[in-house]
Amino acid sequence: MAALNELLGLDMPCGECGRRHKVAVRAVLVADDALARLPDVCGRQATGRRLALVADRRTMAIAGDAARAALEQGGFTVGVTIVPDPKPDHSPVCDDTTKAWLESQLPAADLYVAVGSGVVCDLVKWIGFERKIPYVCVATAASMNGYASDNVAPTIQGVKCLFSGIGPRAILSTPQILATAPHHMTVAGLGDVMAKPVSASDWRLNRELFGEFYCSVCADTINDIEPLYLACPADIGRGKPEAVRILFDALILTGLSMSMAGTSSPASGGEHLVSHTLDMMSMLDGTPHDLHGRQVGVATILGAAIYQELFALEKPVFRDSSTPTSAAFWGRFAAAVEPYHAKKRAKTAEAAGILQRDPARWDAIRQRLAPGLRSPEKIKDVLKRAGAAHRIADIGVTRERFLAAFTHAHEFRDRITILDLARIAGLMPGRAEELVERWVVT
Ligand SMILES: [Zn+2]
Ligand SMILES: [Zn+2]
Repeated sequence: MAALNELLGLDMPCGECGRRHKVAVRAVLVADDALARLPDVCGRQATGRRLALVADRRTMAIAGDAARAALEQGGFTVGVTIVPDPKPDHSPVCDDTTKAWLESQLPAADLYVAVGSGVVCDLVKWIGFERKIPYVCVATAASMNGYASDNVAPTIQGVKCLFSGIGPRAILSTPQILATAPHHMTVAGLGDVMAKPVSASDWRLNRELFGEFYCSVCADTINDIEPLYLACPADIGRGKPEAVRILFDALILTGLSMSMAGTSSPASGGEHLVSHTLDMMSMLDGTPHDLHGRQVGVATILGAAIYQELFALEKPVFRDSSTPTSAAFWGRFAAAVEPYHAKKRAKTAEAAGILQRDPARWDAIRQRLAPGLRSPEKIKDVLKRAGAAHRIADIGVTRERFLAAFTHAHEFRDRITILDLARIAGLMPGRAEELVERWVVT
């Protein structure tokens, strides 16, 4: 992809927003011989010959063993650390406990090699950033958009957080590894990428309301590739290598958009908050949750549905709709959520005032955001044709549980999203049940 290559290693001032956009990733290599070329790639990025390879049990078997053999043959010393499963048949998670364990195990190294998908790559990104050690990533599934991003999204004492880090120097994989990844992981990647129109619109909403930083160069990185993956969801679901490759590139481009913007905003809006909230509910009651991208996909259908309904309104009445942080819902996380929600309350009150005072603002917002949005029908159809999660039953949650997440998710980030706009326009929480019934039950 020419567009992708143009962004690799980017470090230049932006003509549109005036900021400097930087991309840590210098190479993306998806090729049959990618693992054989790994020593070359590492040689270019490392100052010495000591490597620390991190994987979990599964990803070690998928690509770690081959990566290690190639690197040792290439003259590197490779220390391998396998992140253990927390429980039998439970993959590791990216949290403070796992990070502390990994820190205690990692050998001294000039470069880290992360072999895996979201969790392994985020753990290595996190530690590498703190220790100022660069890393290279061997991706084992097209399952999420974090490979190329600078952000780390760990769980700290049970609360989903977001930190700045630095993305990998290079991302490698083979078409075969990506295409044979478990179906539920690949379609999770599709769910994550389908969120982009909603999340980028949420980002732009903050610009339109409060004049906050927004840059279309960052927001639009996937515009050229979007028609390609929208055209082949069934092939993505079937694991056809060319289709999964398109999805993988789209995920990389989404990650780059966050790195360039220096914020997760281009690819994480209200739909992501619903998924994070489901994760936090699981931490509270021990019920398992589904993969990030699968939950995000379901929530994205609703985000798009709310945008569609709201933008059809000529003169909605905007009202401050603040409620206290629900201690009953958040349980032991309530104290951590409250500071975000306090800021959010102030912002939504301000937004309601702005929109109510000046109806022209509503028209301007509708005009500017509408072209970037996709209809909920389209999003649902694409997910469905790929065999991705598009109903709450697919992600293993009841109506009550999903509704609880859907109606409380706005409380724990201070950025305005479609969930807040829906509240000040009177659509939420009153219509939440109806929206869920209409869009994500069948
Ligand atoms: Zn810019
Ligand atoms: Zn995501």
